[in-house]
Amino acid sequence: MNQAIGTVYKSTGSWYRVKTDKGIMLDARIKGKFRLNGKKLTNPVAVGDRVKIEWTSADEATIIEILTRNNYVVRQSPRKKHFLHLLASNIDQAMLIVTVVEPSLKPGFIDRFLLMTETHDIPVVIVFNKSDLWGPEEREKLDEFRAIYNDIGYKVLHSSSLTGEGLDKLKETLQGKTTLMSGHSGVGKSSLMNTIQPELALKTEEISDYSGKGQHTTTFAEMFDLPEGGRLIDTPGIKTLGFNHFEVMDVAHNFREFFALSSGCKFNNCMHLNEPKCAVRQAVQDGQIAPTRYRSYLQIVEEIENQNYWEINNDW
Ligand code: GDP
Ligand code: ZN
Repeated sequence: MNQAIGTVYKSTGSWYRVKTDKGIMLDARIKGKFRLNGKKLTNPVAVGDRVKIEWTSADEATIIEILTRNNYVVRQSPRKKHFLHLLASNIDQAMLIVTVVEPSLKPGFIDRFLLMTETHDIPVVIVFNKSDLWGPEEREKLDEFRAIYNDIGYKVLHSSSLTGEGLDKLKETLQGKTTLMSGHSGVGKSSLMNTIQPELALKTEEISDYSGKGQHTTTFAEMFDLPEGGRLIDTPGIKTLGFNHFEVMDVAHNFREFFALSSGCKFNNCMHLNEPKCAVRQAVQDGQIAPTRYRSYLQIVEEIENQNYWEINNDW
C-alpha cells in the first residue's frame, strides 16, 4: 500500500506538510499543474486540502490528487495580479481579527474580507482586539460597528490578550471547528493565538521561523490541531486585498444585504450606482443599509472598473 489520504497542514510553495488520516506527518511535493476555474494559482494546493498521496520514500511523498473541496477562500495574489492565491480550504468558519485603535479601524478592510468569504458562504466571526486600549469613544465606535455586522448576520466578539477579556468566548467559538484566522499585520493575531492556546505557542516555536527580534513571523499559512478539539489555520498578515479578478456583479451579489434587497431594484442587473429606482440606494438613504458598507462597495466597484490596486494603508 503506497498511497494514502491526508490533509495539508502547511504549504510553503515548494513542498507541503501532510498529515495522513492515520496520523503520519510527511512532506510532499506536487506533480503536474492544478488550476482553479481556469485561473492560474500561485499555490495550487491549499492548507486544509484533502489530498491523495503516493510515497516516494519512507517519509516523502507526492500529492497526486486533490479531493473535491467543500469550500475555499481565495484572493487575488498580492504579487501577481493575474494569479489567484488560495488561503485555505475545507473550513467551518473564518475569524477576522481587527482593531479599533493601534492600528486604527479599517471598515473597508472588514468589508473586503467579507466579500472574499461570502462567495462560499463561509461564516465569519469578527473579533475586535486590544480592548484594553479602549475609552468611551472607542467603545462607542465598537458598538456602532457591532450593530452593523450583527444586523447582517455576523458574530462579533472583542478581546484583549493583555487583560484576557473575551478569551473564553473566543475559545468556545473555536472549539471543534476548523477556523481560518486572519487579519492585517499588527492587530495582535499572533499574540492572541499564543494566549488562547499556550500549547500551540510551544508548537509554533518548535517549527516556525523567528525574526531577529524573537517574534513569530508567519510567512505561510499553517494549520494546528487544538488540544480541546478543532483546528486553527494561521495565515500571514494581509497587506492587500484586491478584487480585480471580480466582475462588478460579483461584488453586488456578495454584499449580502444588498443582494437581499436587489430584487426590489427596477433593473435586474442593477449595479446600485446611478440607476433609477434602485432599492439598495434607497435603503442606504433610509438608514437600512450602513453608509460604511455602501462606501466600501463603491470603492471596490471603482477599483474593478479602473483596475486599480488597493492597499491596507489606504485610509478606508
Ligand atoms: P500580528 O501582526 O497581528 O500577529 O500582531 P502581534 O501579535 O505581533 O502584535 C502586534 C503588536 O500589538 C505588538 O506590539 C503586541 O505587543 C501588541 N498587542 C497584541 N495584542 C495586544 C492586546 O491585546 N492589547 C494591546 N494593547 N496590545 C497588543
Ligand atoms: Zn440597485
